[in-house]
Amino acid sequence: MIVVLQKGAKEEDLTNVLKHLKMHGFATHIVRGTEKTIVGAVGDKSRLVNIPLEAMSGVESVIPILAPYKLASREFKPEDTVINVGGIAIGGKDVVIMAGPCSVESKEQIMETAILVKEAGANILRGGAFKPRSSPYSFQGLKEKGLEYLALAREKTGLPIITEVMESENVGIVADYADILQIGARNMQNFTLLRKAAATGKPILLKRGPSATIEEWILAAEYILVEGNQQVIMCERGIRTFETYTRNTLDLSSIPVIKHLTHLPIIVDPSHGTGKWRCVTPMSKAAVACGADGVIIEVHPRPSEALSDGSQSLTPEKFNKLVNELEAVAQATGKALSTPVTDNSKVGV
Ligand code: PEP
Ligand code: MN
Repeated sequence: MIVVLQKGAKEEDLTNVLKHLKMHGFATHIVRGTEKTIVGAVGDKSRLVNIPLEAMSGVESVIPILAPYKLASREFKPEDTVINVGGIAIGGKDVVIMAGPCSVESKEQIMETAILVKEAGANILRGGAFKPRSSPYSFQGLKEKGLEYLALAREKTGLPIITEVMESENVGIVADYADILQIGARNMQNFTLLRKAAATGKPILLKRGPSATIEEWILAAEYILVEGNQQVIMCERGIRTFETYTRNTLDLSSIPVIKHLTHLPIIVDPSHGTGKWRCVTPMSKAAVACGADGVIIEVHPRPSEALSDGSQSLTPEKFNKLVNELEAVAQATGKALSTPVTDNSKVGV
């Protein structure tokens, strides 16, 4: 439930409400808005028998949250969550572009790609060092070396970096390098990993599982929020359907749904969402038209030589064209593309 405090309620009122809730076994989360303070309380309401919260000093109202997720819900936090990553606002008024190769393959490859995507207008560099591959025989990533190369690319370009963390035991090392931790689609319901990643306090991009309903996906986000980490970015990357022509079916309807049900930013991955480079530009435009806060795009200098996901990767030239076309779509929705990073000193881990 949500306890809304009156405008001008005293600090002491808040303390008493928190004390009362804790005494009855509730976990509490405070959101201080510009007008009012609200307390999200998760626990068993039937235990609040003696003093009704409504009767306490400074309390304006008590609103039950009927959805199974609480902290992620719009009722809990009506304003959009905006996440700041090295000076780039995700979930704000501008559309953010993350781009880079599926996998970090070598120092030269990530450097070359980072420079090219930055020149084209990308705000954040992606690249996998620990790779979740469907086959154990496929390239598994450069692991820590890959993280080091990503950090070098950040140093060179000033672009913050996002990279996947696959296992709980690697959370520490990945968090030492990354500006945003990516939880891959296959790990969306790896609750131990979600908790550990949340505990780093880093922003987390949470990919939708290939077979996850929207509610399951939001509940996975709730695992991160309940650990006290409010920096969750949802990422739609396609779901498994009967269609086989595309790798997945990109569920763009999840954008307005996530926006309606939650306060979290949502970005779209049309590369994994379709598996086909030809679909990436049209689906990126569609995503921005639907209200996505950004896109994450796979770009490789030579897709035919890529060690993973070459068939869904754009060349830097095609990516450049996509960014130009996206600008017009962003403007049509009353937004703009986020201005590219220019100041290296803004980025820090
Ligand atoms: C990736 O981003 O390279 C990746 C493996 O994505 P997903 O988890 O969406 O399959
Ligand atoms: Mn990939």
